[in-house]
Amino acid sequence: MTHADVIIIGGGIAGISAAAELAADLTVLVLEGEAQIGYHSTGRSAAIFIRNYGNDTLRALNAAAAPIFEAPEGISDRSLLSPRGELMVAGEAEMDTLEAYCDGATGIDRLTAAEAAELVPILRPDPIAGAVLERDAQDIDVDRMLQGYARLLKARGGRVVTGAQVQKITRGHSAWQVTAAGEAYTAPVIVNAGGAWADPVAQLAGARAVGIRPYRRSAAIIPAPDGHDVDRWPLFGAITETWYAKPEAGKLMVSPADEDPVDPHDAWPDDMVLAEGLYRFEQAVTHPVTRLEHSWAGLRSFAPDRTPVVGFGGQTEGFFWLAGQGGYGVQTAPALACLTAELITGQTPDLPPETVAALSPKRFGKDIQ
Ligand SMILES: Cc1cc2nc3c(=O)[nH]c(=O)nc-3n(C[C@H](O)[C@H](O)[C@H](O)COP(=O)(O)OP(=O)(O)OC[C@H]3O[C@@H](n4cnc5c(N)ncnc54)[C@H](O)[C@@H]3O)c2cc1C
Repeated sequence: MTHADVIIIGGGIAGISAAAELAADLTVLVLEGEAQIGYHSTGRSAAIFIRNYGNDTLRALNAAAAPIFEAPEGISDRSLLSPRGELMVAGEAEMDTLEAYCDGATGIDRLTAAEAAELVPILRPDPIAGAVLERDAQDIDVDRMLQGYARLLKARGGRVVTGAQVQKITRGHSAWQVTAAGEAYTAPVIVNAGGAWADPVAQLAGARAVGIRPYRRSAAIIPAPDGHDVDRWPLFGAITETWYAKPEAGKLMVSPADEDPVDPHDAWPDDMVLAEGLYRFEQAVTHPVTRLEHSWAGLRSFAPDRTPVVGFGGQTEGFFWLAGQGGYGVQTAPALACLTAELITGQTPDLPPETVAALSPKRFGKDIQ
């Protein structure tokens, strides 16, 4: 039987980053069901950091995460970010959404249709009624980030066990007993970083589900449109999130920005959803899509209020939630990892109290575990 101060269930970016922060003070063990860390949502993201993405709570997390991305002490010897920019365009009927996005946003510029098409020459200017550019949106090197946190965890004496699908969780007198792949582990605190499986993991532990729902998002790689060097283009898309495209190693990643509710599973794209999304992209640009090189899908898992769920529920001792990161789980991970470590070690969080309260599972009612 292996004992630790904290057992983290899930070796995605949430679990690994929180483990690395916690390992500064405590013995930490991560149990990951797959053969490698980052196999599910973390390995399938669009890898972009957008400061104005999400509601006020998420924007507070984005702001707290930015300095860690820029100077990732102990994780990498250089910034995990590189310049990209994000250009969102709106048709006449989408201008309300554009105005709402700009409300409270910082560091953005309004562009005309001609200016937008100058930045991304394949955009058709005619349907564009307005556009907004966030110059500060940046690419994230997700693999360097994940591996950097994993190295930091190891250097601090923590451990990751892969191929360790957690099947049973029971609460003993003063500690949890967790069974994974025939091995038993104990710890007074468990962290539920199960991504799309966060609710099933909670139920295994006898805690009540909070209603975290996985939604599928697909993406495809297409060749760069003829004669275009796409490397310096920003990510570009519809403000109403009906499609977006992002330069990716000299090619374009195009996503239908789909959000279909599904059960937790090893996700793959639905051909029809992909085709419809590529059609919407084609309507906005001057070049037809002639070939897909590769496609994939992943799950973005949201709580009902689309805000992450982070903290002790309060009813079941030692059960900590780190879930519901939706479409922002990579960019918020450094901030949520610090918050997780602060709450578990009993330190006062750096984040404002209203942000901490908005993230708490206690917001779902008294009987949430
Ligand atoms: C197409 C797409 C684009 C995205 N783009 C961005 C983006 O640009 N920027 C951004 O910030 N975010 C983006 N996201 C969201 C981001 O990828 C997720 O929010 C983030 O990866 C969630 O991390 P996680 O660690 O919670 O989940 P995961 O990476 O899914 O990790 C959870 C882990 O828990 C493990 N697990 C579950 N149950 C058990 C069990 N019983 N026992 C053991 N292990 C278990 C799973 O195997 C899994 O590895 C995108 C997502 C998708 C799908």
